[in-house]
Amino acid sequence: MAAFDRDLFVIGAGSGGVRAGRIAAGYGARVAIAEEHRVGGTCVIRGCVPKKLLVYASRFPDEFEDAAGFGWTVPPASFDWPTLRAAKDREIDRLEKAYVANLERSGATILRTRAEVVDPHTVRLGDGRTVTAERILVATGAWPFLPADVPGIEHAVTSNEVFDLPALPRRVVVVGGGYIAVEFAGIFAGLGVETTLVYRGEQILRGFDRELTDKVAAAMSRRGIRILCGTDVKALEPAAGGVAAVLSSGETLAPGLVMYATGRVPNTRGLGLEAAGVALDGLGAVRVDSASKSSVPSIYAVGDVTNRVNLTPVAIREGHAFADTVYGGREVLVDHALVPTAVFTTPELGTVGLTEEKACAHHPAVDVYKAEFRPMRNTLAGRDERMFMKLIVDAVSDRVLGVHVIGPDAGEMAQLLGIPLMMNATKADFDRTLAVHPTAAEELVTMRTPSVKHRR
Ligand code: FAD
Ligand code: NDP
Repeated sequence: MAAFDRDLFVIGAGSGGVRAGRIAAGYGARVAIAEEHRVGGTCVIRGCVPKKLLVYASRFPDEFEDAAGFGWTVPPASFDWPTLRAAKDREIDRLEKAYVANLERSGATILRTRAEVVDPHTVRLGDGRTVTAERILVATGAWPFLPADVPGIEHAVTSNEVFDLPALPRRVVVVGGGYIAVEFAGIFAGLGVETTLVYRGEQILRGFDRELTDKVAAAMSRRGIRILCGTDVKALEPAAGGVAAVLSSGETLAPGLVMYATGRVPNTRGLGLEAAGVALDGLGAVRVDSASKSSVPSIYAVGDVTNRVNLTPVAIREGHAFADTVYGGREVLVDHALVPTAVFTTPELGTVGLTEEKACAHHPAVDVYKAEFRPMRNTLAGRDERMFMKLIVDAVSDRVLGVHVIGPDAGEMAQLLGIPLMMNATKADFDRTLAVHPTAAEELVTMRTPSVKHRR
Protein backbone atom coordinates (compact mmCIF):
# COMPACT_ATOMS: atom_id res chain seq x y z
CA MET A 1 0.00 0.00 0.00
CA ALA A 2 1.24 3.51 -0.84
CA ALA A 3 2.42 5.50 2.15
CA PHE A 4 0.28 8.50 1.11
CA ASP A 5 -3.17 8.88 -0.50
CA ARG A 6 -1.57 10.98 -3.27
CA ASP A 7 1.87 11.75 -4.61
CA LEU A 8 0.94 15.41 -5.07
CA PHE A 9 -1.84 17.57 -3.65
CA VAL A 10 -2.20 20.93 -5.41
CA ILE A 11 -4.14 23.70 -3.65
CA GLY A 12 -5.58 26.09 -6.23
CA ALA A 13 -6.49 25.40 -9.87
CA GLY A 14 -5.24 28.65 -11.39
CA SER A 15 -2.48 29.27 -13.92
CA GLY A 16 0.33 27.74 -11.84
CA GLY A 17 -1.58 24.94 -10.11
CA VAL A 18 -3.26 23.61 -13.24
CA ARG A 19 -0.01 23.48 -15.19
CA ALA A 20 1.89 21.80 -12.34
CA GLY A 21 -0.89 19.27 -11.71
CA ARG A 22 -1.32 18.39 -15.37
CA ILE A 23 2.39 17.93 -16.08
CA ALA A 24 3.02 15.98 -12.86
CA ALA A 25 0.09 13.67 -13.65
CA GLY A 26 1.53 13.24 -17.15
CA TYR A 27 4.73 11.94 -15.55
CA GLY A 28 2.65 9.36 -13.71
CA ALA A 29 2.19 11.10 -10.35
CA ARG A 30 -1.11 10.50 -8.52
CA VAL A 31 -2.39 14.09 -8.38
CA ALA A 32 -5.36 15.72 -6.67
CA ILE A 33 -6.08 19.42 -7.14
CA ALA A 34 -8.49 21.43 -4.98
CA GLU A 35 -10.27 24.56 -6.20
CA GLU A 36 -12.65 26.56 -4.03
CA HIS A 37 -13.97 28.88 -6.76
CA ARG A 38 -13.65 28.12 -10.46
CA VAL A 39 -11.04 26.12 -12.39
CA GLY A 40 -8.80 28.48 -14.35
CA GLY A 41 -8.12 30.87 -11.49
CA THR A 42 -7.72 34.62 -11.61
CA CYS A 43 -6.36 34.86 -15.14
CA VAL A 44 -9.20 33.01 -16.81
CA ILE A 45 -12.11 33.90 -14.56
CA ARG A 46 -11.46 37.51 -13.45
CA GLY A 47 -8.12 38.61 -14.79
CA CYS A 48 -6.18 38.58 -18.05
CA VAL A 49 -8.79 36.97 -20.27
CA PRO A 50 -11.98 38.90 -19.44
CA LYS A 51 -9.83 42.05 -19.11
CA LYS A 52 -8.46 41.67 -22.64
CA LEU A 53 -11.99 41.08 -23.97
CA LEU A 54 -13.06 44.37 -22.36
CA VAL A 55 -9.99 46.09 -23.81
CA TYR A 56 -11.04 44.97 -27.29
CA ALA A 57 -14.56 46.28 -26.63
CA SER A 58 -13.19 49.62 -25.45
CA ARG A 59 -11.23 50.17 -28.68
CA PHE A 60 -14.15 49.98 -31.14
CA PRO A 61 -14.97 53.70 -30.90
CA ASP A 62 -11.52 54.36 -32.46
CA GLU A 63 -12.38 52.03 -35.34
CA PHE A 64 -15.71 53.77 -35.97
CA GLU A 65 -14.06 57.19 -35.83
CA ASP A 66 -11.09 56.27 -38.03
CA ALA A 67 -13.23 54.56 -40.67
CA ALA A 68 -14.43 57.88 -42.10
CA GLY A 69 -10.92 58.75 -43.28
CA PHE A 70 -10.91 55.55 -45.31
CA GLY A 71 -14.21 56.34 -47.03
CA TRP A 72 -16.62 54.56 -44.73
CA THR A 73 -19.81 56.01 -43.37
CA VAL A 74 -20.51 54.28 -40.08
CA PRO A 75 -24.03 54.44 -38.68
CA PRO A 76 -24.26 55.96 -35.17
CA ALA A 77 -22.83 53.32 -32.83
CA SER A 78 -24.27 52.39 -29.47
CA PHE A 79 -22.95 50.08 -26.78
CA ASP A 80 -24.78 47.56 -24.59
CA TRP A 81 -22.91 46.39 -21.49
CA PRO A 82 -25.17 43.37 -20.69
CA THR A 83 -24.52 42.00 -24.20
CA LEU A 84 -20.75 42.24 -23.72
CA ARG A 85 -20.94 40.84 -20.19
CA ALA A 86 -22.96 37.81 -21.34
CA ALA A 87 -20.63 37.15 -24.28
CA LYS A 88 -17.62 37.39 -21.97
CA ASP A 89 -19.29 34.97 -19.52
CA ARG A 90 -19.91 32.43 -22.29
CA GLU A 91 -16.26 32.58 -23.34
CA ILE A 92 -15.07 32.11 -19.76
CA ASP A 93 -17.41 29.14 -19.29
CA ARG A 94 -15.93 27.63 -22.45
CA LEU A 95 -12.37 28.15 -21.24
CA GLU A 96 -13.14 26.77 -17.78
CA LYS A 97 -14.53 23.61 -19.36
CA ALA A 98 -11.37 23.26 -21.48
CA TYR A 99 -9.19 23.60 -18.37
CA VAL A 100 -11.26 20.94 -16.57
CA ALA A 101 -11.11 18.60 -19.57
CA ASN A 102 -7.32 18.97 -19.90
CA LEU A 103 -6.79 18.32 -16.21
CA GLU A 104 -9.02 15.26 -16.23
CA ARG A 105 -7.40 13.94 -19.40
CA SER A 106 -4.04 14.14 -17.66
CA GLY A 107 -5.34 11.86 -14.91
CA ALA A 108 -5.49 14.45 -12.10
CA THR A 109 -8.52 14.40 -9.78
CA ILE A 110 -10.29 17.75 -9.32
CA LEU A 111 -11.81 18.37 -5.90
CA ARG A 112 -14.17 21.33 -5.92
CA THR A 113 -13.55 22.49 -2.40
CA ARG A 114 -11.36 24.65 -0.24
CA ALA A 115 -8.27 22.91 1.11
CA GLU A 116 -6.05 23.86 4.03
CA VAL A 117 -2.72 22.53 5.19
CA VAL A 118 -2.76 20.49 8.40
CA ASP A 119 0.86 19.31 8.48
CA PRO A 120 3.70 18.77 5.97
CA HIS A 121 1.88 15.80 4.39
CA THR A 122 -1.81 16.39 5.14
CA VAL A 123 -4.53 18.72 3.85
CA ARG A 124 -8.05 19.16 5.15
CA LEU A 125 -10.92 19.58 2.69
CA GLY A 126 -13.98 21.78 3.15
CA ASP A 127 -16.08 18.85 4.41
CA GLY A 128 -13.53 18.04 7.11
CA ARG A 129 -12.02 15.00 5.37
CA THR A 130 -8.24 14.80 5.29
CA VAL A 131 -6.00 13.65 2.44
CA THR A 132 -2.35 12.75 2.78
CA ALA A 133 0.21 13.48 0.08
CA GLU A 134 3.94 13.01 -0.34
CA ARG A 135 4.13 16.63 -1.51
CA ILE A 136 1.82 19.64 -1.32
CA LEU A 137 1.94 22.46 -3.87
CA VAL A 138 0.47 25.77 -2.74
CA ALA A 139 -0.82 27.67 -5.79
CA THR A 140 -3.51 29.80 -4.18
CA GLY A 141 -2.75 33.08 -5.99
CA ALA A 142 -3.43 36.53 -4.59
CA TRP A 143 -6.36 38.72 -3.57
CA PRO A 144 -7.07 42.44 -4.08
CA PHE A 145 -5.67 44.64 -1.32
CA LEU A 146 -7.90 47.42 0.05
CA PRO A 147 -6.36 50.01 2.42
CA ALA A 148 -8.37 49.58 5.62
CA ASP A 149 -7.56 53.10 6.83
CA VAL A 150 -9.80 54.83 4.25
CA PRO A 151 -13.21 55.54 5.81
CA GLY A 152 -15.97 54.16 3.58
CA ILE A 153 -13.62 51.73 1.78
CA GLU A 154 -16.39 49.10 1.92
CA HIS A 155 -18.18 51.09 -0.80
CA ALA A 156 -15.37 50.46 -3.31
CA VAL A 157 -15.28 47.61 -5.81
CA THR A 158 -12.15 45.75 -6.94
CA SER A 159 -11.20 43.76 -10.03
CA ASN A 160 -13.06 40.84 -8.41
CA GLU A 161 -16.42 42.55 -8.86
CA VAL A 162 -15.87 44.84 -11.79
CA PHE A 163 -16.35 42.23 -14.52
CA ASP A 164 -19.89 41.50 -13.38
CA LEU A 165 -21.29 45.00 -12.81
CA PRO A 166 -25.06 44.97 -13.37
CA ALA A 167 -24.77 48.22 -15.34
CA LEU A 168 -21.99 50.43 -16.64
CA PRO A 169 -21.65 53.53 -14.41
CA ARG A 170 -21.84 57.04 -15.79
CA ARG A 171 -18.72 58.01 -13.84
CA VAL A 172 -15.85 56.06 -12.35
CA VAL A 173 -12.95 56.86 -10.06
CA VAL A 174 -10.12 54.34 -10.33
CA VAL A 175 -7.64 54.40 -7.45
CA GLY A 176 -4.06 53.17 -8.00
CA GLY A 177 -1.40 53.62 -10.64
CA GLY A 178 -0.38 50.04 -11.47
CA TYR A 179 -1.34 47.62 -14.23
CA ILE A 180 -4.96 47.09 -13.19
CA ALA A 181 -5.77 50.74 -12.47
CA VAL A 182 -4.45 52.08 -15.78
CA GLU A 183 -5.92 49.24 -17.84
CA PHE A 184 -9.36 49.71 -16.30
CA ALA A 185 -9.21 53.48 -16.63
CA GLY A 186 -8.66 52.86 -20.35
CA ILE A 187 -11.47 50.32 -20.56
CA PHE A 188 -14.00 52.56 -18.81
CA ALA A 189 -13.04 55.63 -20.83
CA GLY A 190 -13.24 53.69 -24.10
CA LEU A 191 -16.71 52.48 -23.18
CA GLY A 192 -17.82 56.08 -22.68
CA VAL A 193 -17.61 56.36 -18.88
CA GLU A 194 -16.35 59.66 -17.42
CA THR A 195 -13.10 58.45 -15.85
CA THR A 196 -10.79 59.84 -13.18
CA LEU A 197 -7.61 58.05 -12.10
CA VAL A 198 -6.32 58.90 -8.64
CA TYR A 199 -2.72 57.91 -7.89
CA ARG A 200 -0.63 58.68 -4.81
CA GLY A 201 2.74 58.77 -6.60
CA GLU A 202 4.42 61.16 -8.98
CA GLN A 203 3.66 59.27 -12.21
CA ILE A 204 1.55 56.19 -13.04
CA LEU A 205 3.17 52.80 -13.72
CA ARG A 206 6.06 53.24 -11.32
CA GLY A 207 8.97 50.97 -12.26
CA PHE A 208 8.41 51.14 -16.02
CA ASP A 209 10.67 53.32 -18.19
CA ARG A 210 9.84 56.86 -17.11
CA GLU A 211 9.80 58.35 -20.61
CA LEU A 212 7.21 55.76 -21.58
CA THR A 213 5.02 56.29 -18.55
CA ASP A 214 5.05 60.05 -19.19
CA LYS A 215 3.93 59.40 -22.77
CA VAL A 216 1.25 56.87 -21.82
CA ALA A 217 -0.11 59.23 -19.18
CA ALA A 218 -0.19 62.10 -21.68
CA ALA A 219 -1.94 59.92 -24.28
CA MET A 220 -4.52 58.74 -21.73
CA SER A 221 -5.17 62.34 -20.71
CA ARG A 222 -5.66 63.33 -24.35
CA ARG A 223 -8.21 60.55 -24.57
CA GLY A 224 -10.21 62.22 -21.84
CA ILE A 225 -9.06 60.42 -18.70
CA ARG A 226 -8.47 62.81 -15.81
CA ILE A 227 -5.27 61.67 -14.09
CA LEU A 228 -4.63 63.04 -10.62
CA CYS A 229 -1.12 62.14 -9.43
CA GLY A 230 0.24 62.98 -6.00
CA THR A 231 -3.28 62.54 -4.67
CA ASP A 232 -4.75 60.29 -1.99
CA VAL A 233 -8.34 59.35 -1.29
CA LYS A 234 -9.22 60.54 2.22
CA ALA A 235 -12.70 59.02 2.42
CA LEU A 236 -15.48 57.45 0.38
CA GLU A 237 -19.03 58.65 0.97
CA PRO A 238 -22.21 57.13 -0.41
CA ALA A 239 -24.25 59.77 -2.25
CA ALA A 240 -27.05 60.01 -4.79
CA GLY A 241 -25.73 58.39 -7.97
CA GLY A 242 -22.96 56.35 -6.37
CA VAL A 243 -19.99 56.94 -4.11
CA ALA A 244 -18.14 60.25 -3.78
CA ALA A 245 -14.37 60.25 -3.26
CA VAL A 246 -12.96 62.94 -0.96
CA LEU A 247 -9.40 63.70 -2.05
CA SER A 248 -6.31 64.92 -0.20
CA SER A 249 -6.35 67.97 -2.50
CA GLY A 250 -9.62 69.06 -0.88
CA GLU A 251 -11.69 68.21 -3.95
CA THR A 252 -14.66 65.86 -3.71
CA LEU A 253 -15.28 63.97 -6.94
CA ALA A 254 -18.84 63.69 -8.23
CA PRO A 255 -20.43 60.38 -7.18
CA GLY A 256 -20.03 57.30 -9.32
CA LEU A 257 -18.42 53.91 -9.12
CA VAL A 258 -15.17 53.76 -7.16
CA MET A 259 -12.76 50.99 -8.13
CA TYR A 260 -9.67 50.27 -6.06
CA ALA A 261 -6.68 48.67 -7.79
CA THR A 262 -4.10 49.13 -5.08
CA GLY A 263 -2.20 45.89 -5.42
CA ARG A 264 -2.81 42.29 -4.48
CA VAL A 265 -1.75 40.27 -1.44
CA PRO A 266 -0.74 36.59 -1.44
CA ASN A 267 -3.61 34.26 -0.59
CA THR A 268 -2.24 32.53 2.51
CA ARG A 269 -4.64 33.65 5.22
CA GLY A 270 -6.18 30.74 7.10
CA LEU A 271 -4.29 28.22 4.99
CA GLY A 272 -2.50 26.63 7.96
CA LEU A 273 0.94 27.19 6.48
CA GLU A 274 2.62 28.79 9.46
CA ALA A 275 1.38 26.07 11.82
CA ALA A 276 2.87 23.51 9.43
CA GLY A 277 6.22 25.29 9.65
CA VAL A 278 6.15 27.12 6.29
CA ALA A 279 7.97 30.47 6.41
CA LEU A 280 6.06 33.46 5.03
CA ASP A 281 7.38 36.96 4.35
CA GLY A 282 5.97 40.17 5.81
CA LEU A 283 3.25 40.35 3.14
CA GLY A 284 2.23 36.71 3.70
CA ALA A 285 3.96 35.35 0.59
CA VAL A 286 5.40 31.83 0.81
CA ARG A 287 9.19 32.06 0.91
CA VAL A 288 10.64 29.66 -1.66
CA ASP A 289 14.03 28.77 -3.09
CA SER A 290 14.90 28.79 -6.79
CA ALA A 291 13.16 25.40 -7.17
CA SER A 292 9.95 26.80 -5.59
CA LYS A 293 10.51 24.74 -2.42
CA SER A 294 9.34 26.28 0.87
CA SER A 295 11.06 26.01 4.24
CA VAL A 296 9.25 22.66 4.65
CA PRO A 297 10.84 20.17 2.19
CA SER A 298 7.53 18.51 1.21
CA ILE A 299 5.69 21.81 0.58
CA TYR A 300 6.26 23.84 -2.59
CA ALA A 301 4.62 27.04 -3.86
CA VAL A 302 4.29 28.66 -7.29
CA GLY A 303 2.63 31.73 -8.78
CA ASP A 304 1.29 34.88 -7.14
CA VAL A 305 1.29 33.29 -3.67
CA THR A 306 5.09 33.55 -3.78
CA ASN A 307 4.99 37.22 -4.93
CA ARG A 308 7.94 36.90 -7.31
CA VAL A 309 6.77 38.22 -10.71
CA ASN A 310 2.98 38.18 -10.60
CA LEU A 311 2.12 37.34 -14.19
CA THR A 312 0.33 34.35 -15.67
CA PRO A 313 3.16 33.08 -17.90
CA VAL A 314 5.49 33.20 -14.89
CA ALA A 315 3.08 31.16 -12.73
CA ILE A 316 2.72 28.66 -15.57
CA ARG A 317 6.46 28.40 -16.05
CA GLU A 318 7.05 27.95 -12.30
CA GLY A 319 4.39 25.20 -12.16
CA HIS A 320 5.86 23.44 -15.17
CA ALA A 321 9.42 23.69 -13.85
CA PHE A 322 8.31 22.25 -10.50
CA ALA A 323 6.70 19.25 -12.21
CA ASP A 324 9.68 18.67 -14.52
CA THR A 325 12.13 18.88 -11.64
CA VAL A 326 10.26 16.78 -9.09
CA TYR A 327 8.46 14.24 -11.31
CA GLY A 328 10.15 14.45 -14.72
CA GLY A 329 13.70 13.74 -13.67
CA ARG A 330 15.19 16.93 -15.12
CA GLU A 331 15.95 20.03 -13.12
CA VAL A 332 14.44 23.19 -14.61
CA LEU A 333 14.88 26.57 -12.94
CA VAL A 334 12.86 29.64 -13.91
CA ASP A 335 14.72 32.75 -14.99
CA HIS A 336 12.84 35.72 -13.51
CA ALA A 337 15.31 38.27 -14.84
CA LEU A 338 13.98 38.95 -18.32
CA VAL A 339 10.19 38.92 -18.41
CA PRO A 340 8.46 40.53 -21.40
CA THR A 341 5.26 42.27 -20.37
CA ALA A 342 2.50 44.50 -21.72
CA VAL A 343 0.14 46.99 -20.18
CA PHE A 344 -3.11 46.96 -22.14
CA THR A 345 -3.84 50.64 -21.96
CA THR A 346 -4.84 52.49 -25.13
CA PRO A 347 -2.28 53.15 -26.48
CA GLU A 348 -0.65 49.93 -25.37
CA LEU A 349 2.74 49.61 -23.70
CA GLY A 350 5.05 46.66 -24.40
CA THR A 351 8.39 46.20 -22.75
CA VAL A 352 11.23 43.77 -22.15
CA GLY A 353 14.52 44.23 -20.36
CA LEU A 354 16.03 47.19 -18.56
CA THR A 355 14.56 50.67 -18.42
CA GLU A 356 16.82 53.58 -19.33
CA GLU A 357 17.08 54.43 -15.61
CA LYS A 358 18.10 50.88 -14.58
CA ALA A 359 20.49 50.48 -17.52
CA CYS A 360 22.29 53.68 -16.54
CA ALA A 361 22.49 52.56 -12.92
CA HIS A 362 24.16 49.27 -13.88
CA HIS A 363 26.20 50.10 -17.00
CA PRO A 364 28.83 52.84 -17.43
CA ALA A 365 28.03 53.54 -21.11
CA VAL A 366 24.49 53.34 -22.46
CA ASP A 367 23.19 54.40 -25.88
CA VAL A 368 19.49 55.08 -26.31
CA TYR A 369 17.89 54.89 -29.74
CA LYS A 370 14.44 56.40 -30.15
CA ALA A 371 11.81 56.60 -32.86
CA GLU A 372 8.57 58.53 -32.64
CA PHE A 373 6.18 58.63 -35.56
CA ARG A 374 2.56 58.60 -36.62
CA PRO A 375 1.62 55.02 -37.58
CA MET A 376 0.51 54.82 -41.21
CA ARG A 377 -3.08 54.03 -40.32
CA ASN A 378 -3.37 57.24 -38.32
CA THR A 379 -2.55 59.39 -41.36
CA LEU A 380 -5.77 58.84 -43.30
CA ALA A 381 -7.67 58.41 -40.07
CA GLY A 382 -6.64 61.90 -39.06
CA ARG A 383 -5.66 60.61 -35.64
CA ASP A 384 -2.87 62.50 -33.98
CA GLU A 385 -1.65 59.70 -31.70
CA ARG A 386 2.01 58.77 -32.20
CA MET A 387 3.94 55.58 -31.70
CA PHE A 388 7.13 55.53 -29.64
CA MET A 389 9.97 53.01 -29.55
CA LYS A 390 13.15 52.96 -27.60
CA LEU A 391 16.15 50.64 -27.66
CA ILE A 392 18.54 50.64 -24.72
CA VAL A 393 22.02 49.45 -25.71
CA ASP A 394 25.14 48.72 -23.66
CA ALA A 395 27.68 50.84 -25.57
CA VAL A 396 30.57 48.66 -24.38
CA SER A 397 29.33 45.21 -25.47
CA ASP A 398 26.73 46.43 -28.01
CA ARG A 399 24.16 44.20 -26.25
CA VAL A 400 20.52 45.34 -26.39
CA LEU A 401 19.51 45.66 -22.75
CA GLY A 402 15.92 46.75 -23.14
CA VAL A 403 13.25 47.58 -25.68
CA HIS A 404 10.16 49.65 -24.94
CA VAL A 405 7.23 50.35 -27.23
CA ILE A 406 4.04 52.41 -27.02
CA GLY A 407 1.37 52.02 -29.65
CA PRO A 408 -0.84 49.49 -31.44
CA ASP A 409 0.26 45.88 -30.89
CA ALA A 410 3.09 46.85 -28.52
CA GLY A 411 2.29 43.73 -26.47
CA GLU A 412 2.69 41.50 -29.54
CA MET A 413 6.05 43.17 -30.26
CA ALA A 414 7.24 42.70 -26.67
CA GLN A 415 6.59 38.98 -26.97
CA LEU A 416 8.82 38.66 -30.06
CA LEU A 417 11.45 41.06 -28.74
CA GLY A 418 11.81 38.78 -25.74
CA ILE A 419 13.50 36.18 -27.95
CA PRO A 420 16.49 38.21 -29.19
CA LEU A 421 16.98 39.72 -25.74
CA MET A 422 16.99 36.21 -24.21
CA MET A 423 19.66 35.33 -26.79
CA ASN A 424 21.81 38.34 -25.82
CA ALA A 425 21.29 40.00 -29.21
CA THR A 426 23.46 43.01 -30.02
CA LYS A 427 22.46 46.23 -31.75
CA ALA A 428 24.42 44.90 -34.75
CA ASP A 429 22.09 41.86 -34.81
CA PHE A 430 19.09 44.19 -34.90
CA ASP A 431 20.76 46.24 -37.66
CA ARG A 432 21.45 43.29 -39.94
CA THR A 433 17.86 42.05 -39.63
CA LEU A 434 15.85 43.08 -42.68
CA ALA A 435 12.76 45.19 -42.16
CA VAL A 436 9.22 44.08 -42.91
CA HIS A 437 7.73 46.92 -44.91
CA PRO A 438 5.41 48.68 -44.39
CA THR A 439 5.01 47.96 -40.69
CA ALA A 440 5.50 49.96 -37.52
CA ALA A 441 7.84 47.33 -36.07
CA GLU A 442 10.37 47.91 -38.89
CA GLU A 443 11.49 50.97 -36.96
CA LEU A 444 13.02 48.59 -34.42
CA VAL A 445 15.63 47.46 -36.95
CA THR A 446 16.20 50.77 -38.72
CA MET A 447 17.32 53.06 -35.90
CA ARG A 448 20.84 54.17 -36.83
CA THR A 449 21.91 57.03 -34.58
CA PRO A 450 21.65 57.15 -30.80
CA SER A 451 19.36 59.90 -29.52
CA VAL A 452 21.13 59.94 -26.17
CA LYS A 453 24.58 58.70 -25.06
CA HIS A 454 24.98 58.23 -21.31
CA ARG A 455 28.60 58.02 -20.09
CA ARG A 456 30.04 57.92 -16.59
P1 FAD B 1 -4.51 32.21 -9.52
O1 FAD B 1 -4.70 32.21 -10.98
O2 FAD B 1 -5.08 33.35 -8.75
O3 FAD B 1 -5.14 30.85 -8.97
C1 FAD B 1 -5.26 30.57 -7.61
C2 FAD B 1 -6.48 29.68 -7.42
O4 FAD B 1 -6.46 29.12 -6.11
C3 FAD B 1 -7.80 30.43 -7.53
O5 FAD B 1 -8.63 29.80 -8.48
C4 FAD B 1 -8.39 30.36 -6.12
O6 FAD B 1 -9.82 30.29 -6.13
C5 FAD B 1 -7.78 29.08 -5.61
N1 FAD B 1 -7.67 28.97 -4.16
C6 FAD B 1 -7.17 29.90 -3.31
N2 FAD B 1 -7.14 29.42 -2.06
C7 FAD B 1 -7.64 28.16 -2.12
C8 FAD B 1 -7.85 27.15 -1.16
N3 FAD B 1 -7.51 27.31 0.14
N4 FAD B 1 -8.40 25.97 -1.55
C9 FAD B 1 -8.74 25.78 -2.86
N5 FAD B 1 -8.55 26.70 -3.81
C10 FAD B 1 -8.00 27.87 -3.45
N6 FAD B 1 -1.22 38.52 -15.86
C11 FAD B 1 -0.71 38.53 -17.13
O7 FAD B 1 0.30 37.87 -17.39
N7 FAD B 1 -1.32 39.25 -18.12
C12 FAD B 1 -2.46 39.97 -17.90
O8 FAD B 1 -2.98 40.60 -18.81
C13 FAD B 1 -3.00 39.97 -16.60
N8 FAD B 1 -4.13 40.67 -16.33
C14 FAD B 1 -4.66 40.63 -15.07
C15 FAD B 1 -5.82 41.35 -14.83
C16 FAD B 1 -6.39 41.35 -13.58
C17 FAD B 1 -7.64 42.13 -13.32
C18 FAD B 1 -5.78 40.59 -12.53
C19 FAD B 1 -6.39 40.57 -11.17
C20 FAD B 1 -4.62 39.88 -12.76
C21 FAD B 1 -4.04 39.88 -14.04
N9 FAD B 1 -2.87 39.19 -14.31
C22 FAD B 1 -2.34 39.22 -15.58
C23 FAD B 1 -2.16 38.42 -13.27
C24 FAD B 1 -2.51 36.92 -13.35
O9 FAD B 1 -3.92 36.76 -13.32
C25 FAD B 1 -1.88 36.17 -12.18
O10 FAD B 1 -0.50 36.43 -12.16
C26 FAD B 1 -2.10 34.66 -12.31
O11 FAD B 1 -3.46 34.35 -12.36
C27 FAD B 1 -1.44 33.94 -11.14
O12 FAD B 1 -1.69 32.56 -11.21
P2 FAD B 1 -1.69 31.68 -9.88
O13 FAD B 1 -1.81 30.27 -10.33
O14 FAD B 1 -0.56 32.05 -9.04
O15 FAD B 1 -3.00 32.13 -9.09
P1 NDP C 1 0.34 46.93 -8.92
O1 NDP C 1 1.29 46.48 -7.89
O2 NDP C 1 0.72 46.89 -10.34
O3 NDP C 1 -0.11 48.42 -8.59
C1 NDP C 1 -0.64 48.77 -7.35
C2 NDP C 1 -0.85 50.26 -7.33
O4 NDP C 1 -1.57 50.62 -6.17
C3 NDP C 1 0.45 51.04 -7.33
O5 NDP C 1 0.29 52.15 -8.17
C4 NDP C 1 0.60 51.44 -5.86
O6 NDP C 1 1.28 52.66 -5.70
C5 NDP C 1 -0.85 51.64 -5.48
N1 NDP C 1 -1.09 51.48 -4.04
C6 NDP C 1 -0.66 50.47 -3.26
N2 NDP C 1 -1.10 50.65 -1.99
C7 NDP C 1 -1.82 51.79 -1.99
C8 NDP C 1 -2.52 52.50 -0.98
N3 NDP C 1 -2.56 52.08 0.28
N4 NDP C 1 -3.14 53.65 -1.34
C9 NDP C 1 -3.08 54.11 -2.61
N5 NDP C 1 -2.44 53.47 -3.60
C10 NDP C 1 -1.82 52.33 -3.29
O7 NDP C 1 -0.97 46.06 -8.63
P2 NDP C 1 -2.32 45.88 -9.42
O8 NDP C 1 -3.35 45.72 -8.38
O9 NDP C 1 -2.50 46.92 -10.47
O10 NDP C 1 -2.09 44.50 -10.17
C11 NDP C 1 -1.60 43.36 -9.47
C12 NDP C 1 -0.63 42.61 -10.32
O11 NDP C 1 -1.32 41.84 -11.30
C13 NDP C 1 0.33 43.46 -11.14
O12 NDP C 1 1.42 43.90 -10.40
C14 NDP C 1 0.73 42.54 -12.24
O13 NDP C 1 1.78 41.72 -11.78
C15 NDP C 1 -0.54 41.73 -12.47
N6 NDP C 1 -1.27 42.27 -13.63
C16 NDP C 1 -0.70 42.17 -14.87
C17 NDP C 1 -1.34 42.69 -15.98
C18 NDP C 1 -0.68 42.57 -17.31
O14 NDP C 1 0.23 41.77 -17.47
N7 NDP C 1 -1.10 43.34 -18.31
C19 NDP C 1 -2.62 43.36 -15.88
C20 NDP C 1 -3.13 43.42 -14.54
C21 NDP C 1 -2.47 42.89 -13.47
P3 NDP C 1 2.88 52.76 -5.67
O15 NDP C 1 3.30 52.66 -7.10
O16 NDP C 1 3.11 54.11 -5.11
O17 NDP C 1 3.37 51.66 -4.82
